[in-house]
Amino acid sequence: MMALTLPAATGFLVSAQLGGDRVPGPVFATRGAHATVAEALSTQTLNTVLVHAGSAADAVARSGDTALVLAGELYNREELLTLLPAGTDGRTDAQLLLALLGVYDLHTFRLLNGRFAAAVALGDRVLLATDHAGSVPLYTLPAPGRVLAATEIKALVPATVHSPPSGRPVAEARRVRRVPGVHQVPAGTVLELDVRTGAATPSRTWTPPVSRRILPEAEATAAVRETLERAVMARTGGTTPLVVLSGGIDSSGVAALAAAHTDGPLDTLSMGTDTSDEFAEARVVATHLGSAHREITVPTADLLGQLPYAIWASESVDPDIIEYLLPLTALYRALDGPARRILTGYGADIPLAGMHREDRLPQLDTAVTYDMATFDGLNEMTPVLSGIQGHWSTHPYWDRDVLDLLVPLEAGLKRRHGRDKWVLREAMSPLLPHETVTRPKLGVHEGSGTTSSFSLLLMDAGVPEADIHRAKSLVVREIFDRVVVEGLPPAEVSTADAVHRVSARLKETE
Ligand code: AMP
Ligand code: MG
Repeated sequence: MMALTLPAATGFLVSAQLGGDRVPGPVFATRGAHATVAEALSTQTLNTVLVHAGSAADAVARSGDTALVLAGELYNREELLTLLPAGTDGRTDAQLLLALLGVYDLHTFRLLNGRFAAAVALGDRVLLATDHAGSVPLYTLPAPGRVLAATEIKALVPATVHSPPSGRPVAEARRVRRVPGVHQVPAGTVLELDVRTGAATPSRTWTPPVSRRILPEAEATAAVRETLERAVMARTGGTTPLVVLSGGIDSSGVAALAAAHTDGPLDTLSMGTDTSDEFAEARVVATHLGSAHREITVPTADLLGQLPYAIWASESVDPDIIEYLLPLTALYRALDGPARRILTGYGADIPLAGMHREDRLPQLDTAVTYDMATFDGLNEMTPVLSGIQGHWSTHPYWDRDVLDLLVPLEAGLKRRHGRDKWVLREAMSPLLPHETVTRPKLGVHEGSGTTSSFSLLLMDAGVPEADIHRAKSLVVREIFDRVVVEGLPPAEVSTADAVHRVSARLKETE
């Protein structure tokens, strides 16, 4: 529940099966205790291994012939409770979900605003569901008589080795590189599977709005401020959150709203490298809000050495995403001490086309439409990134209600009076210093110098400048094969070795 620092569970492996076999002992990058739970239903058994921080029982719910497990959390509990008879037991998110399933069946997932992955065994059906943004990645390996699903690919790999899958295709789902039979459940989707046959039918539960909404300036900014404020509040509950703060408008806006709803000072944290940082800009915000602020400097050589951790955590093979996630991985890994609830300013640029540095409205709307149609499967929002250090991160700009407001705003509200992300800057201007409100966009991979140092590393290894992007992609795949497919611990995988192998291979094929 929301007063706790972490959700009841932050990851799972489930096996829904006709027989009674045990689940293979899984490996997760997410740090936490493991709990094993078995729920025997009339036709199937739901065997689960949960990753948790002390309240595993709250992540499971069972009633009659339905059992479910939930990793992550819901943000519209109050709204959802109004749909159920007074006195319904909805103390935990899992219980609330169970009660809703009794009323709405799989359409329940259309009602939820949250950051979660869920697995439900219901009669002879299995439901596997992601939140609207697929922000907690979910993978499945379906076979006749047994459906496996997990929040990390690497937890499913042992099952693909010991019992070759039947290779059942999963409609509309992306296959996972080099792990036969494993598919990623798409964002905003519930997959309905027949446990006897392993056949899967997808239903979309959310899609990005495609129409555009016209609002007067004042109404638009008020709506943005209120909706974002609700998203921030739903993510903090009674805790003092930690905001990862770059000093850009996005994370500063989140910090300002969180500070307004926190008793005592908010915690903020900034990272930089020995080549580049945004410390001065973040300090302006920290001082303005009176936060307890910390700075972490990661040496660049160290940063690139952590590439295996970024890939191990995100299980992404997109080099641009990995480059962006790398400084954040280093930041979270350096954050020792007790588990924290972390708020980020991630993702405001996608519905608002902030990173396109584009002022022509048609191009701006094309960028929004394209980016909203292609975010899925990149795992940019995965909680495993901070989970490898035992923390829980959450992204208010990708709250379902915030997206449902921001995406459809007509492009002239996003770019206005010569400003990018105008509606957001204007909405936040009463809460932040003027220089923060007008600060231009800087991505974390730019602000930390990650993009340029990764390029330099490859050039030093003899990769010609024209091949840099391709080489980055090959390095990422090489490391993915070690830490995800082969299951090697990231500490045993070297970025330098991968770079040398790729550089040698590129020379051979010249
Ligand atoms: P950006 O690429 O700047 O949009 O970064 C996304 C989010 O990551 C920001 O909103 C912050 O929450 C966080 N972030 C980016 N850069 C830093 C940094 N240097 N230190 C701490 N957090 C950061
Ligand atoms: Mg930034």
